[in-house]
Amino acid sequence: MSSTEDLDYPQILFQYNNGFLVSKIMFTACELGVFDLLLESEGSLSSDAIAEHLGTSVSGMERLLDACVGLKLLEVEMKSEGAFYRNTELSNLYLTKSSPKSQYHNLMYYSKTVYLCWHYLTDAVRDGKNQYERAFGVSSKDLFGALYRSEEEMIKFMYGLNAIWSICGRDVIAAFDLSPFTVIYDLGGCAGGLAQECISLYPKSTVTIYDLPKVVQVAKERFVPPEERRITFHEGDFFKDPIPEADLYILARILHDWADGKCMQLLTKMYKACKPGGGVLLVETLLNEDKTGPLEAQLYSMNMLVQAEGKERTPTEYSKLLAAAGFREIQVKKTGKLYDAILGRK
Ligand code: SAM
Repeated sequence: MSSTEDLDYPQILFQYNNGFLVSKIMFTACELGVFDLLLESEGSLSSDAIAEHLGTSVSGMERLLDACVGLKLLEVEMKSEGAFYRNTELSNLYLTKSSPKSQYHNLMYYSKTVYLCWHYLTDAVRDGKNQYERAFGVSSKDLFGALYRSEEEMIKFMYGLNAIWSICGRDVIAAFDLSPFTVIYDLGGCAGGLAQECISLYPKSTVTIYDLPKVVQVAKERFVPPEERRITFHEGDFFKDPIPEADLYILARILHDWADGKCMQLLTKMYKACKPGGGVLLVETLLNEDKTGPLEAQLYSMNMLVQAEGKERTPTEYSKLLAAAGFREIQVKKTGKLYDAILGRK
């Protein structure tokens, strides 16, 4: 009566139903320092030892560790004294704070901020707008005023967003040959993860991180070493203040924050400032033209609804915005990773 496909439906349903439980288990193990402790201990530890080191209950920790085993974030070995746990390669690489590819800060931003906004997803769909008022009691009239509602929140955002470039930065910067562009402005360049990738791949380039003054201050103090002469800074509001001339402007995860009108305002201003022969590199996660996916881009687009004013777009939608601002020779490169690249020329 029922096909094999039918039999999979409950499986899919339960998997979706439990999606947030999975996220929360990973966030909690990260937050408590499970993966850091197991990395430091260079061997396996019992749940009692882990609970004692991390100051948690034994009963809670044992269940958390077992769930991490189920998620393949930990491995377990049964010894005569009981169960002993160790990190998997995935956890060592991405979930420990000290790894160069650590996603710890990204996960913490999801756990402490994004998760709270998503509590109001139904309201966001009803209202068609972000949910800062409900989630945090702050007005979202000024989007980045709401996102940066405290210094602590801004720093969490900066660490959280920067983490991804240690995994995806090289692919987007290498998607096109950017070597002809030497004077580069990373507009909304934030903590500078992408700027670092850019100067390391293109030895003749200099990158100026253009961002709001308080972001630039923190980027200088905490993220970009002062001896890095090829990264400079420019404090400004790209909607209100002048944008200096450059060979290339990078806009990474900027347009997805804004509705079409604001995108056009920024692109038109940038086009005027751009050197003839120069260009713009958009770095975004791209939706398929036929609306079939990719799922990550669709999820991020929902996140833009609860957290920002924009949405994720298709290559055609971005190309239309670039063309309307004056850019030509628009090329799209899908990297096969989370973020893709679009280059437009003046
Ligand atoms: N490009 C970075 C990345 O992909 O990691 C950061 C992207 S984040 C979504 C948006 C960035 O734009 C933040 O660094 C924010 O401070 C900056 N930003 C927002 N509004 C701005 C404005 N009016 N002028 C300058 N920078 C702005």
